This record gives sequence, C-alpha cells and structure tokens, in this order.
Amino acid sequence: MNCIFCKIASGEIPSKKLFEDELLFAFYDIQPQAPVHFLIIPKQHFSSLNDISKEHSGLAGHLLATAAELAKKTGIDQSGYRVVLNTNDDGGQSVPHLHAHVLGKRKFLWPPG
Ligand code: 5GP
Ligand code: ZN
Repeated sequence: MNCIFCKIASGEIPSKKLFEDELLFAFYDIQPQAPVHFLIIPKQHFSSLNDISKEHSGLAGHLLATAAELAKKTGIDQSGYRVVLNTNDDGGQSVPHLHAHVLGKRKFLWPPG
C-alpha cells in the first residue's frame, strides 16, 4: 500500500524512532508543534479512528497504555500532555493512517482552535 506511515512503520522511510513493539511504532513528528511531539501508529493500516470498532479494543487500549508509558519516558507525564487523534477533514487529519499525537512541554489551549 502506498501509505507514508506504513512505510515509516516498516522502516522503508526513515524516522526518529521512539518505540516499537509487535503492534505499534512511535516516532517524532517531522514538524513538531510542541517541544515534545511524537506520533504512535498501529503497524496495521487503519485509515482513521473511523476504522476502529470494538473488535480492536485490545489494540486501542494498548495504544493508550503506550502513550502513557512514552509520556513517562519523555518526561512529560507530571507536567502534562495532550493526546490527539485528528479524524478526517474537520478533525484536521492530513495523513490517512491512524495516528495518535502526543504533545507536551508547553501549555495547550482549551477549547482547541
Ligand atoms: P495529522 O495532520 O494527520 O493529524 O498529522 C500528521 C502528522 O504527521 C503531522 O503532524 C506531520 O507533521 C507528520 N508527518 C507527515 N509526514 C511525516 C514524515 O514523513 N515523517 C514524520 N516524522 N512525520 C510526518
Ligand atoms: Zn498505512
């Protein structure tokens, strides 16, 4: 499949890797929006959160637990951080492979822009 994040997960396109296991791949965003900004993606291709159903609960839970683990590893767990899953046009999704942004080391606004 001609998907940039599938190619990053397989190593075909290089990235600054933070973490990898059998299900997930995490790497730093190429255009960081905060002093700490990394992405966690499933190795399996899903176009967006819309492709996730309850049969994927194990994977989805594993992704969230990994976000918490990597927040600790990158030193943002205590100061705080934001986990974002932009979905489709209104959500601001630009890469059609499911990814969670994890951002930290600055203050974020609410409501979001
Ligand atoms: P989205 O806009 O879909 O929520 O997020 C996609 C993110 O992927 C953006 O923050 C963008 O900077 C990042 N991104 C796009 N292409 C690449 C790439 O080739 N390498 C890395 N490391 N990040 C990328
Ligand atoms: Zn993909």
